[in-house]
Amino acid sequence: MSNQTPQPDCGRRSFLLAAAGTLTALALPAVPAIARASPAQTLPPLPYALDALAPAISAQTLGFHYGKHHKAYLDNLNKLIAGRDYADLALEDIIARSARQAGDAAVFNNAAQLWNHTFYWRSLRPRGGGAPPQALREKIEAAFGSVDACKQQLAGAALSQFGSGWAWLAQDGDQLRVVKTGNADTPLTAGLTPLLTVDVWEHAYYLDYQNRRADYVGAVLDKLINWEFAQQNLKA
Ligand code: MN
Repeated sequence: MSNQTPQPDCGRRSFLLAAAGTLTALALPAVPAIARASPAQTLPPLPYALDALAPAISAQTLGFHYGKHHKAYLDNLNKLIAGRDYADLALEDIIARSARQAGDAAVFNNAAQLWNHTFYWRSLRPRGGGAPPQALREKIEAAFGSVDACKQQLAGAALSQFGSGWAWLAQDGDQLRVVKTGNADTPLTAGLTPLLTVDVWEHAYYLDYQNRRADYVGAVLDKLINWEFAQQNLKA
């Protein structure tokens, strides 16, 4: 108990510290542990400039998508988890735990959307598209027959997702699969390893393509998709 803690001899202590030339910095009373001043989760920087994906995705779209939508998921999540056990967990662990708690749907939705968007930015790159690197290409050919067939399945998933959601290339054990998820859902909670994703929420494309989701998805797959990132996510 604190009232049994011996009190320091403040006069003597200050004198000694002053003698050491550190009075100002160190003679202050110890500050008790307080709630962390910085938020539990942060917004990772965009891995390229706002105009780096134009014209397939405009700087205006990226500005709203990253600066408003992605940031809103972050801000909402930090408000929801402040003072709770969630605040001490890694983002992936927040997603896994909240997915099992029916009462924490808002935590799950904002945590998963924070993760999904960070993953989406890295799934794209300026001058992307083209041919996947060899190790990934071999896995794609084994699973789909060809890279074009894989892209067709990705486009099919992106276009057939009713309403908001995501299309993914994912690893399931030793196999690759194309999957789609609705709203904030992520293949992580199904035990799959995401390799890349395409955001098909309307906010991802409406400023540039209005209702033409197929044109947006085609441009992403042909010009922006980051096969090198997908290969880095392969699990041995
Ligand atoms: Mn989005």
